[in-house]
Amino acid sequence: MNNCIFCKILNGEADASFVYKSEKVTAFMDLNPINKGHVLVIPNEHHERFSTVNSDMVGEMFKVAQNILKAIEKSDIPCEGANLFLSDGEIAGQEVPHSHLHIAPRFTGDGHRMGFSGTDPDESSRDKLNETAKLIADKL
Ligand SMILES: [Zn+2]
Repeated sequence: MNNCIFCKILNGEADASFVYKSEKVTAFMDLNPINKGHVLVIPNEHHERFSTVNSDMVGEMFKVAQNILKAIEKSDIPCEGANLFLSDGEIAGQEVPHSHLHIAPRFTGDGHRMGFSGTDPDESSRDKLNETAKLIADKL
C-alpha cells in the first residue's frame, strides 16, 4: 500500500527507531508513546485488519512482543506491568491502517487508564453470554 506510513518505514522511506527486525515482523518505537518504551510490532506484509494477518505471523507478532517486553523489564525503563493491545479498525481506535500490536509499559502513578465506560448490562446474563458464545463458536 503506497501511502501506508508503516510500509514506508519498512521500505526505508520513513524514519523509525527500530527495536527488532526479522523476515516476518518488525518492531519500532511508537512515535507518540504513552510511556517510555512504547513499542509497536507489525507484520512485514501490509494488512489493514488483524483478521487477514496469517496465523503464523500472528504467532510471531506475539512471540516477538513477549521477548521485547522481557527486554524492557530487564532495562531501566519503568515497567511494573504492561498493556499489550491491538486496536482493530478505526472504530476501535486504529490510527494507522497497517495492523500493529502495542506494547505499552505501565508503572504506578503514570496517570493512564485502559478503559471502557462500563459493562453492558444487557449482555451480562448467563443466558445471553451462552447465546453469544454460541454465535462465535459456530463460526470457529
Ligand atoms: Zn502498510
